[in-house]
Amino acid sequence: MSLLPKTASVKPGEKFDVIIIGLGPAAYGAALYTARYMMKTLVIGETPGGQLTEAGIVDDYLGLIEIQASDMIKIFNKHIEKYNVPVILDSVEKIENNNNEFIVKTKRKGEFKADSVILAIGVKRRKLNVPGEQEFTGKGVSYCSVCDAPLFKNRIVAVVGGGDSALEGAEILSSYATKVYLIHRRDSFRAQPIYVETVKKKPNVEFILNSVVKEIRGDKIVKQIVVQNLKTGEIKELNVNGVFVEIGFDPPTDFARNNGIETDENGYIKVDEWMRTNVSGIFAAGDCTSMWLGFRQVITAVAQGSVAATAAYRYLMEKKGKK
Ligand code: NAP
Repeated sequence: MSLLPKTASVKPGEKFDVIIIGLGPAAYGAALYTARYMMKTLVIGETPGGQLTEAGIVDDYLGLIEIQASDMIKIFNKHIEKYNVPVILDSVEKIENNNNEFIVKTKRKGEFKADSVILAIGVKRRKLNVPGEQEFTGKGVSYCSVCDAPLFKNRIVAVVGGGDSALEGAEILSSYATKVYLIHRRDSFRAQPIYVETVKKKPNVEFILNSVVKEIRGDKIVKQIVVQNLKTGEIKELNVNGVFVEIGFDPPTDFARNNGIETDENGYIKVDEWMRTNVSGIFAAGDCTSMWLGFRQVITAVAQGSVAATAAYRYLMEKKGKK
């Protein structure tokens, strides 16, 4: 099984019932359901698996126990291949709305038409951009405390960040790890005060404030981080088995706004409970949406994808009924 879904030869200009943009869990969830609704579907995305490509072992997706994220992507591919969903690897530059017939313009493969569009375009996780971060991603460096905390039982970990994700992460990790360092670049927090107070009471959590991680070291897995105090300049080395980078996300605000799609105050695509955007016929699912901010999981992205697919199907049924 390949990490790449079977790509299809589709003709430029071809028309579909729905075009799903993205190739992360929300897109796979949407594609499975649009295919099962027998909608003529095209998926356009750049990276099969999306953020799953940055995960190691996943153990919080019902029914798939301690699965490697790469194996999960292969299973997702296999499932949509069963329904012969065409996938093209490309990036979308523009969606034109011609009286609710959408023209999706890609970077390399031309343009395609559709009666509906599902945006499953994800978010960009902020990275520390320090030596060792990329090398040890999935080998001790994690971007999701909620997902990976149980894998660090009786280990020593560091959490980086000062928002709700970092504080919530430190709280969860304190139940598993023997020691948690919370490293934040300032001495005040963006996180809700209740989280900060709760974490401060944990005897095994040590706050390292006004400090940044300069380097992540190890051999096959993470062994050490280098931390610098921004006020004193002091450098220290901490022995850790894991580093949780919880420094937030950049939503695809510009892409949404450039295509007339409303975003919320944080820049995420505004959706209602049926994953409808402000543009009739355009739906959104997964991390790019305003829904369930602060709880981003593979299982929730897949669920949102299936809901968006159902809403798109009902939208098309209604549209066809009106013709
Ligand atoms: P966030 O609120 O944007 O916070 C990011 C944190 O990381 C900030 O403290 C920021 O520092 C720090 N940071 C950013 N870039 C950094 C860098 N390059 N190096 C070091 N530190 C850096 O992100 P989040 O905590 O992931 O939360 C995202 C959204 O989800 C928020 O709206 C949050 O409320 C929500 N959320 C809610 C819950 C909940 O309610 N249970 C749980 C998790 C998340 P500064 O403060 O100095 O900018």
